[in-house]
Amino acid sequence: MRFQDPVAITCPRCATPQKQPVSSLLELVATCCTCGKDLNEVGESMRSQVNDWDSYVGRIELAMALEHRFNCSITDEELDAADTANAYVSLICRKVGGLADNDVLREVCEAMLGIRPELTKPAILVQSFRELLSTYRRADA
Ligand SMILES: [Zn+2]
Repeated sequence: MRFQDPVAITCPRCATPQKQPVSSLLELVATCCTCGKDLNEVGESMRSQVNDWDSYVGRIELAMALEHRFNCSITDEELDAADTANAYVSLICRKVGGLADNDVLREVCEAMLGIRPELTKPAILVQSFRELLSTYRRADA
């Protein structure tokens, strides 16, 4: 997702409308041009929007990769309900008969690594996709 750069914001302390560079806000280094207050709460809110968007796009990419691999279709509701590797494995095994859990799990991990090459398999197995696919949470870790 993209923000218009610079972003028009209003200082939460002194209510001065102003424009700030997207990068400064996201990096939590922006300050109000009038009162000097840090604009971290604005930046945090933008980070949250980026995370929601990245997580959403990543899950759609993953679903598409798995639909292609297993020749099945995953509905929006199923996508929303599946938030971990194991949830995807259960979902696919339910939809496509005769698959071994381990084979499906390997495919889910490979599909995740295709979307986020910097991830590790242990992380994919234990963390929620929302966390894994969130750009800024990952950068903070
Ligand atoms: Zn201010």
